[in-house]
Amino acid sequence: EQRDGDQPEFLQAVREVLESLEPVVAKHPEYEKAGVLERLVEPERVVKFRVAWTDDEGNVQVNRGYRVQFNSAIGPYKGGLRFHPSVNEGVIKFLGFEQILKNSLTSLPMGGGKGGSDFDPKGKSDAEVMRFCQAFMTELCRHIGQFTDVPAGDINVGGREIGYLFGQYKRIRDEYSGVLTGKGLEFGGSLARTEATGYGLCYYTAEALRVLKNDSFKGKTVAISGSGNVAIFATEKAQALGAKVVTASDSNGYIYDPNGIQLDVVKDIKLGHRGRIKEYAERVPGSEYHEGCKGVWTVPCDIALPCATQNEIDEESAKTLVANGCTVVCEGANMPSTPEAIAVYQANNVLYGPAKAANAGGVAVSGLEMSQNSYRLSWSFEEVDDKLKSIMENIVASSLAAAKEYGHEGDLMLGANAAGFVKVANAMVAQGVL
Ligand code: NDP
Repeated sequence: EQRDGDQPEFLQAVREVLESLEPVVAKHPEYEKAGVLERLVEPERVVKFRVAWTDDEGNVQVNRGYRVQFNSAIGPYKGGLRFHPSVNEGVIKFLGFEQILKNSLTSLPMGGGKGGSDFDPKGKSDAEVMRFCQAFMTELCRHIGQFTDVPAGDINVGGREIGYLFGQYKRIRDEYSGVLTGKGLEFGGSLARTEATGYGLCYYTAEALRVLKNDSFKGKTVAISGSGNVAIFATEKAQALGAKVVTASDSNGYIYDPNGIQLDVVKDIKLGHRGRIKEYAERVPGSEYHEGCKGVWTVPCDIALPCATQNEIDEESAKTLVANGCTVVCEGANMPSTPEAIAVYQANNVLYGPAKAANAGGVAVSGLEMSQNSYRLSWSFEEVDDKLKSIMENIVASSLAAAKEYGHEGDLMLGANAAGFVKVANAMVAQGVL
């Protein structure tokens, strides 16, 4: 706390994990002796760098870039890049820390990392985004590699940005390798990567509902926040599984559509021309637009899937959700619930699927993209989607098994932390003090 007092998101993520791990560490004195927890919370390396680029008016702009290489005990560093004005070292460290246990839970060999920049792509032209990505990669390429550190997308880093980043890496290093995931299908990308986080979130939620409540998505009303990559494909899969999704949002406000969100309209607005979600209400009769993104949690629902950003559900929103009949919260975004909100879920017996388990589908398919790149082949959509589904079902099973082992039966949060941790901790002990 003393060392990182100015990084509240990082401290929040660490506190939650360390509290969960108390029963695990009590059973494994060897972890304490090896200083595993002390080492786990200190990144192996943090790189911070200047990103200078020229805008369309010819002015020089300067942003700050980051890559946190957190833990490589079970594989090369792996985790996305986020471009957003709110990015700072603490935000990237919280995301990198979460990534360690998340990646472990997927059962694939990937360590934890994360990166990004305070660059704001809103209102920038394609040419400006390209020049920024090239400048960013000019420095980042010294620190990454297919066997060292393999970045992917996150907020505001999608197919367009990964393409520009990949092109610049290839040009500078003169090397065609799977150094990034989320690539275009023409140059080494995997089918189903775009859909993976949202679909995976629904596979996880469906499995948790089945095992813990003998229930399903069928006939349920679902509130989803965000309208980006995760939200769009969570909506698509929830609808396919028989639910009615009634909301969508962005950082300005939210849509309530009592007839069920028309996803083709959202896709046209967001993927077609990077528009604002407000436009939906102008195009779809019977829907409402409200300013302020927090209001999305006042819409009555059975299941809430937060898919926008960290700390988007606070205590008040969690209480409102519960009062309106919500009994399931599974997290597509990273750390979308504040600690006070989680306490509300726990006090009210809400089925709570924590981000590092529920949204692990994205990085899982990134891991599958790495495998395909190494084999130099491509699997079909169905093949990847089947693997994703079984990985998500496995995460529910391994979380519940760990929760039981450590005396907290049915606790998906403690279970995810424990199951992800034990594998990393054993690898760290075996590899000696590093
Ligand atoms: P996108 O950039 O595609 O979409 C982000 C969405 O969230 C947009 O609708 C955006 O609105 C909204 N949003 C972003 N920041 C804020 C904010 N501060 N307040 C309110 N709304 C906000 O990102 P993704 O869909 O990829 O990521 C969403 C979440 O899922 C993040 O937490 C990310 O870390 C997590 N995640 C993503 C994975 C992936 O594979 N992409 C994998 C695992 C987790 P606006 O357009 O107004 O900014």
